[in-house]
Amino acid sequence: MPLLPRALELVMTELGKLPGIGRRSAERMAFALLIAGSERCDALEKAVERLSEEVGVCPECGFFTDGGVCPIDSDPLRDRSLLCVVEDAMDVVAFERAGGYRGLYQVLGGMLSPLKGVSPEDLRIAHLFDRLERSDSRIEEVILATSPSVEGDATAVYLAREMASLNVRLTRLGRGLPMGGSLEHADGGTLRMAFEGRRAMG
Ligand SMILES: [Zn+2]
Repeated sequence: MPLLPRALELVMTELGKLPGIGRRSAERMAFALLIAGSERCDALEKAVERLSEEVGVCPECGFFTDGGVCPIDSDPLRDRSLLCVVEDAMDVVAFERAGGYRGLYQVLGGMLSPLKGVSPEDLRIAHLFDRLERSDSRIEEVILATSPSVEGDATAVYLAREMASLNVRLTRLGRGLPMGGSLEHADGGTLRMAFEGRRAMG
C-alpha cells in the first residue's frame, strides 16, 4: 500500500509539473495546503480557476490581458516606433521589470525548432507581419530579442531574412546575456545593457 493518501499524491504530482518545483518542494507545499485547511484550499482553487477563465491574450501583441488590448498597447505614452520581438510573455515581464524600454512588444509564442517540429506557422509570425505592414504602422525599428540560444538565433535569422524587404531597422540584443539561457532569468542590469548594446542585423 502506498504511504501517502491518493489525493495527496495527486496534488504533489500536479505541483511537481511546475517549473522549479522538485519532489521535496511539491511535498512541502501539498502538506502545507492540507494543514492550512479547506479555506486555503478553496482560495487556491478559485484563484487557479480564474487564471484560465479570465486571462486572455492581447489581440495586438500576444501578451496576457484581462480582456481586450493589453495595458502596454493601450498606453499612449509608449514609443510606437519600437517593436521588441520576444519568445514568450515571461520575457515581456522580464523587460518591463528591468525598465528602460518604452516601446511595444510582439510575443511569438515560442521559437523555431525543426527538431521539435515548430515551424513559422506555429508561431505568431503572420501576425507580426500584419502589424508591420499595416498602413498606420509607425514601427521604425524591430528588436529581435529572442534568447541567445541555437533556436533563438535561428528564429532571429529567419525573421531578419523575411523582414529584409520591409522598411524597418533590424537589431538584435547585444552581448552579455548568458548563452543558452532564457531572458526571464537574466537580471535587470544585464537586460538593460543588452538592450543598449543592440546591434544592427541583416
Ligand atoms: Zn498587447
